[in-house]
Amino acid sequence: MSTDVTQDLPDLEQFRKEARAWLEANGEPLPVVEVTETDEEDPSVVWGQGSDDVAVFHNLDEAEEQRRLLACQRWQRLKFDAGYAMLNWPVALGGRGLPNSYVRAYLAEESRFSVPSAGELPPTSMGLIATTIAAFGTDEQQQRFIAPLMRQDIWGCQLFSEPSAGSDLASLTTRATRDGDEWVLNGQKVWTSGAMFAQWGLAITRHDFDVPKHKGMTAFLVPFDAPGVEVRPIKQMSGGANFNEVFLTDVRLPDSLRLGPVGEGWRVALTCLGFERDHSAGSSSAHTGGGYKQALAAAQHFGVAGDPLVRQDLADLYIQHKVAQFTNRRAAAALKAGQTPGPEGSLGKLMWTANMERTSHVISKILGTRLVADTGEWGTYAWSEHVLGAPGYKIAGGSDEIQRNIIGERVLGLPAEPRVDKDLPFSEAQRAARA
Ligand SMILES: Cc1cc2nc3c(=O)[nH]c(=O)nc-3n(C[C@H](O)[C@H](O)[C@H](O)COP(=O)(O)OP(=O)(O)OC[C@H]3O[C@@H](n4cnc5c(N)ncnc54)[C@H](O)[C@@H]3O)c2cc1C
Repeated sequence: MSTDVTQDLPDLEQFRKEARAWLEANGEPLPVVEVTETDEEDPSVVWGQGSDDVAVFHNLDEAEEQRRLLACQRWQRLKFDAGYAMLNWPVALGGRGLPNSYVRAYLAEESRFSVPSAGELPPTSMGLIATTIAAFGTDEQQQRFIAPLMRQDIWGCQLFSEPSAGSDLASLTTRATRDGDEWVLNGQKVWTSGAMFAQWGLAITRHDFDVPKHKGMTAFLVPFDAPGVEVRPIKQMSGGANFNEVFLTDVRLPDSLRLGPVGEGWRVALTCLGFERDHSAGSSSAHTGGGYKQALAAAQHFGVAGDPLVRQDLADLYIQHKVAQFTNRRAAAALKAGQTPGPEGSLGKLMWTANMERTSHVISKILGTRLVADTGEWGTYAWSEHVLGAPGYKIAGGSDEIQRNIIGERVLGLPAEPRVDKDLPFSEAQRAARA
């Protein structure tokens, strides 16, 4: 998020003290551990204390998901009203216009507290939908949506993927037809995380089938209470239902809900996906599903920290974690300097998914059979939810293979993949594909 620092900056130490006092008055402290300056972004782990939740995705029933979302919403409202929810957002959009060092300072303080979290929807809503509206919304849209999204008064999700358009998102076929001052949407979206609880969706649609595929798209903000919107949860074999299909049948929207210019839907989608990559790689998700500190605590507890192979893997995990952390800081500094998310975000996302995989590997070695048999012991079977969930992020938000393609083409300047349909009108490319 770029900032418009218009006021004298508060003293960072004073800011930190005030944040700590606010958190002490409103939050639930975690067990006390010594946190050194360099540990700021890596809260320490005390074996057996606090939650041992290292799940990457939660498999919960609907009532439990709802309960967690409401707890998360209650916390976010408190935080927003106290001025800590939009620290580095521009003042004009309701933020405080502070540099990222203040966000880091706040998060370091917050990491000593048990803060409610609730899966994919809140981070999608605040980190992807609100930020994309900041980049493309009219003044009216920004005023209408950003603060309510950041306060979690409303939740927004991402209506991008379709049954025949995932990695090749530009092949989507949800149709937007103009009718006077309104648009009529018809089509099907899939894998929509959190749609069953969201009030809004950011949909990428096709308004023109007779131009090349990247040029005929337009984005809309879709209210889920509009007639013709139907959300159907997808039951996963793991027991949860985090994803949904969303059917759009003759959904009428005023033109005021179009996000960005007609024909610029691809740019809106790329910007949102750029935020997703940065967000996946960034500090807000750095602790999703546990990492080297939890693995180290487990190795020490089970007496295998002296095992040469475990030591080697832990050291590798630590090094890769630090490399990712510094890369993310560099990306955050670029964003702060006003750049929109670029292809470099693919590096961060790849490192993040690779480190989750490394964590799975190390913890499997440390825990052995404790990983697969639920004995009720703290910090053991809980890891199965990391190991089984981590591969999902190798697909979500653009798969690892697609991130590698982006790095190859747009960072390294390697020859692009052959794209025979690039300049064909989309309708012709579809006919050719069917033939
Ligand atoms: C946890 C999770 C959450 C998600 N949440 C959302 C959401 O909220 N909203 C939403 O719209 N979507 C969401 N998705 C969908 C996600 O964006 C798609 O699954 C993803 O883009 C891949 O598309 P696909 O599943 O159609 O696979 P495909 O595109 O069919 O890919 C299949 C395989 O082929 C590989 N592949 C495809 N093209 C290439 C290529 N050109 N070069 C090399 N390899 C290639 C892929 O890497 C993959 O391994 C989510 C997915 C997951 C796993």
